[in-house]
Amino acid sequence: MHATTVIIGGGQAGLAMSRCLLDRSIDHVVLERGAVANSWRNERWDSLRLLTPNWQCRLPGYAYAGDDPDGFMTASEVVDVIAAYAKTVAAPIQTDTTVTSVRRTDDGYCVTTDQGEWSCETVVLASGAFNVPHLPAFASALPSSVATLSAMAYRNPQELDAGGVMVVGASASGVQIAAEIQRSGRQVTLAVGEHVRGPRVYRDRDIHWWMEAAGVLNERYDEVDDIVRARRVPSMQLAGSPEKATFDLNALTSTGVQLAGRLANINEGRAQFSGSLRNKCELADLKLGRLLDTIDEWATANGLDDSTPPPHRFPPTVVDTSPRLTMDLTTGEVETIIWATGFRPDYSWLDVAVLDAKGMIRHDGGVVESPGMYLLGSPFLRRRKSSFIDGARADAPELVVELKTHLDHTTRTTRANSSTWFGTPETRT
Ligand SMILES: Cc1cc2nc3c(=O)[nH]c(=O)nc-3n(C[C@H](O)[C@H](O)[C@H](O)COP(=O)(O)OP(=O)(O)OC[C@H]3O[C@@H](n4cnc5c(N)ncnc54)[C@H](O)[C@@H]3O)c2cc1C
Repeated sequence: MHATTVIIGGGQAGLAMSRCLLDRSIDHVVLERGAVANSWRNERWDSLRLLTPNWQCRLPGYAYAGDDPDGFMTASEVVDVIAAYAKTVAAPIQTDTTVTSVRRTDDGYCVTTDQGEWSCETVVLASGAFNVPHLPAFASALPSSVATLSAMAYRNPQELDAGGVMVVGASASGVQIAAEIQRSGRQVTLAVGEHVRGPRVYRDRDIHWWMEAAGVLNERYDEVDDIVRARRVPSMQLAGSPEKATFDLNALTSTGVQLAGRLANINEGRAQFSGSLRNKCELADLKLGRLLDTIDEWATANGLDDSTPPPHRFPPTVVDTSPRLTMDLTTGEVETIIWATGFRPDYSWLDVAVLDAKGMIRHDGGVVESPGMYLLGSPFLRRRKSSFIDGARADAPELVVELKTHLDHTTRTTRANSSTWFGTPETRT
């Protein structure tokens, strides 16, 4: 089988790309191992709502038109939106098709699947940036009496053993899961490393509204000082709830969640926490202040000061003067540990040498270091919001331009080569 372009992944990124290719009449196929929006169907906990407001759920040719633009969709509502998008776009998608290998050929790529083989000139990796949980190496040293699962496997508090729970990691997933389990009546200890603090609402508007309007979410990958570092910044402590609640550490501790520093090691049944909790919290408070400064400056420059409440600052994060540094994991204080320590992409099927030492794709704004290969949906791919749904809307049309340029160039080169072989019209006799 042959297509000019093979897109791997039928999530929002793959479908956004499909829509952009259809606009340019570039023939392609979307290969998806499960059903459309597989990750939203199978890899989210039960209560998850988008942390991005509904109005920000946009894709090329699609804008939210419901009656709750400032609300937050549930995961199953996201599935509905993406599945409907696939139908409207009429994406040429082949579901239940797992890509098992991608390798380079003389004129493009060979994509092997469990349903046969595709040859193509260009390939788009839209297989997701959050495929597998990322656990620290010492996770395997956990005593067998403690149950353990990742944020990806977690579904709801009722499925957990009774007793205390430690959630490791205080980014968006960690704070949401910690808050929900604490509400269920279990004592939660949250191990907090580097994190990004964010209020849900500031000066009467959603923080995502401000970040979009002030250009923060649209900051481009080639404008930041250190893109490698920027791509590793943890997600902001946000959740989408009908009450528009804030999920920062102060909000969590007010419900009884206990804080500890970053979980640094597990040794002979004891958890060892870093002593840097206060520093990490001070840094997060400082960075929040800088973000709000940016927003306030933008609001003033754009004449919003009269129509919005005045600038203000949030109280500093409250941290115990001497937070605990160890915990005996054999006493039953904690029955379950949930790793909310981030996710990584899975490229175990990619047989092209484009991965760096950390297993991430080497690319320049989604143009991978292998001609005709493109990446979509990765953190800060082309702009700060690249891994969001709204990021696929912005990035896919730009990547299609790159892909089309490559196709035009290879067509010209092939034509030139064949004219050399057969002789140009002028030299033919
Ligand atoms: C917990 C969590 C919460 C998030 N919340 C938000 C939010 O509130 N708002 C927001 O905008 N974004 C959010 N995101 C980020 C992002 O929108 C999602 O991760 C989204 O699923 C990414 O879409 P995607 O199309 O890039 O990747 P995915 O949705 O992961 O799609 C990739 C597809 O590729 C398929 N695939 C993978 N490997 C293969 C293979 N070898 N062969 C065939 N198919 C394959 C997968 O089955 C999957 O369907 C969240 C992410 C996570 C993890």
